[in-house]
Amino acid sequence: MINLSVVIPLYNEEESLPELCNWISRVMDSHGFSYEVLLINDGSTDNSWQVIGKLSKTNSNIKGVKFNRNYGKSAALDTGFKLATGQVVITMDADLQDSPDEIPALYRMITEDGHDMVSGWKKKRHDPLSKTIPSRFFNATTRMISGIKLHDFNCGLKAYDSKVVKNIKVYGEMHRYIPVIAKWHGFTNIAEKVVEHRKRKFGITKFGIERFVFGFLDLLSITFVSKFKKSPMHFFGLLGTLSFVFGFLSTAWLIWKKMQAVYIFKTPIAREVVDQPLFFLALVAIIVGVQLFLAGFLGELLVINKAEKDEYLVIDTIGIEK
Ligand code: UDP
Ligand code: MG
Repeated sequence: MINLSVVIPLYNEEESLPELCNWISRVMDSHGFSYEVLLINDGSTDNSWQVIGKLSKTNSNIKGVKFNRNYGKSAALDTGFKLATGQVVITMDADLQDSPDEIPALYRMITEDGHDMVSGWKKKRHDPLSKTIPSRFFNATTRMISGIKLHDFNCGLKAYDSKVVKNIKVYGEMHRYIPVIAKWHGFTNIAEKVVEHRKRKFGITKFGIERFVFGFLDLLSITFVSKFKKSPMHFFGLLGTLSFVFGFLSTAWLIWKKMQAVYIFKTPIAREVVDQPLFFLALVAIIVGVQLFLAGFLGELLVINKAEKDEYLVIDTIGIEK
């Protein structure tokens, strides 16, 4: 088994790749590590793939995977995790914002200190305020929900024991919450290391303003899923049952009042059941209750059925045996 696999998702990063790969191999060679660099080309429309081809010719440790289109950073990481053969797996961004000089220390934290996973912390960030302020909010909320004491969940630079990456699945856009996914699978020994963060040297960021909207929705689903992952029925079923019971009791009460008025007190002016607002509220509650219940049930079936379905279409590879 080789010491290290470096997994790098990339989308239109042709200018950065040569410098990044040279830097990584310099660090690896000076420490005597055996390694591979897995460059996952996530549907780039520039010359990234040609650049990867050239780089792999001069250094056989550099390998490439090419998707047929852009699937997103999570898909690229997931594919890298499946292919990685190293004892320790490092992920880093392709844009030179993460420094390969951090690799040896991260490696030691996994192999010597025995952590399952080490997450980088860009303590001093070179990003605009519009990015750093929302990110603080996300981190605080995720910390609270997950109980994992990290400052920077979304840092691209992370190190994993190979058993972690072989057992987790990074689905959807969940690359922001990998520590949470790791914890679900029982990998709770998660540490943090302050890492150097650099300015983006070439190209532009691949995540626009929608990162906050999607980040927020993902936060909701990660909250929901971590609470009710095993059984959506516990959530929907509870709400549905409460709503249904409320509707049922209200209707029964209305009918009882009506009967009382007609048969016991014999008052001719009793209000019709359908004349009362409560009746409609009760009706809606019953319907919503049944709907929620059904949603829970369907959710449950989906969870049971959720096989490893997300396969990405890989159209080319370099240096990887299929
Ligand atoms: N990336 C990717 N697929 C995408 C978007 C981004 O593989 O759909 C890669 C990108 O090339 C980079 C890393 O993910 O290597 C982080 O992206 P970026 O630097 O744009 O994010 P930021 O640093 O602005 O958070
Ligand atoms: Mg970046």
